Amino acid sequence: MIRMVSVDKHFGELHVLRDINLEVTAGQVVVVLGPSGSGKSTLCRTINRLEPIDSGTIEIDGQRLPEEGKGLAGLRADVGMVFQSFNLFAHKTILENVTLGPIKVRRTPKAEAEKAGIGLLERVGIADQRDKYPAQLSGGQQQRAAIARALAMKPKVMLFDEPTSALDPEMVNEVLDVMTTLAKEGMTMLVVTHEMGFARRAANRVVFMSDGEIVEDAEPEAFFTAPRSDRAKDFLGKIL
Ligand code: ADP
Ligand code: MG
Repeated sequence: MIRMVSVDKHFGELHVLRDINLEVTAGQVVVVLGPSGSGKSTLCRTINRLEPIDSGTIEIDGQRLPEEGKGLAGLRADVGMVFQSFNLFAHKTILENVTLGPIKVRRTPKAEAEKAGIGLLERVGIADQRDKYPAQLSGGQQQRAAIARALAMKPKVMLFDEPTSALDPEMVNEVLDVMTTLAKEGMTMLVVTHEMGFARRAANRVVFMSDGEIVEDAEPEAFFTAPRSDRAKDFLGKIL
């Protein structure tokens, strides 16, 4: 579902992604871990071309990402993304946030988009909040709305970049629970998170990044109990 081959990227002098080779098959859940600044967010952003790459190739479901132009919007719509900061449209209601993409990009009729949108809001447990504006919701509710909005585009892949790290602690689990359910339902997911419980419970693989490189790619239990590299041991020593 995601295939990255020999992907390199620089920000000026900084070599932020170094020869990244990563395959995620349909239905897999991959957790990406690594120190701050190791390139995790950049990796996510290259997968839907929010950031261009210098060399290498990225395919989504067998289709190579075009550099720009028409095909890009369609491919980007196949990749849902949820960020750390709740990036909902402030002046739209929760339901409008969820229906906007399908109506504008997928050309779904409004009534149909609303029906589907309410269904998605039910799935993430906030259908009763549909007519409110984002600022009227808690952080956890906003992040669940952001997940519903991404799902409304019927993506093939969902990317999560530290979706719970800006939340108050008591709201972390309500978001992780939605993500865990999504994982169990077979969604292909790439999740940057330091939530070890989620990684152990829901992930098939852990990818550990350091200095722009993938240093380890292992099953969660193996990674947490017996990391192979010194860099991973050092990292786990700091967070566990
Ligand atoms: P992580 O998500 O693992 O913390 P990032 O991918 O955000 O790491 O950043 C990796 C490195 O790239 C950091 O050193 C960061 O400062 C740098 N970086 C990120 N975005 C940009 C940018 N737009 N321009 C220049 N440098 C950037
Ligand atoms: Mg980041």
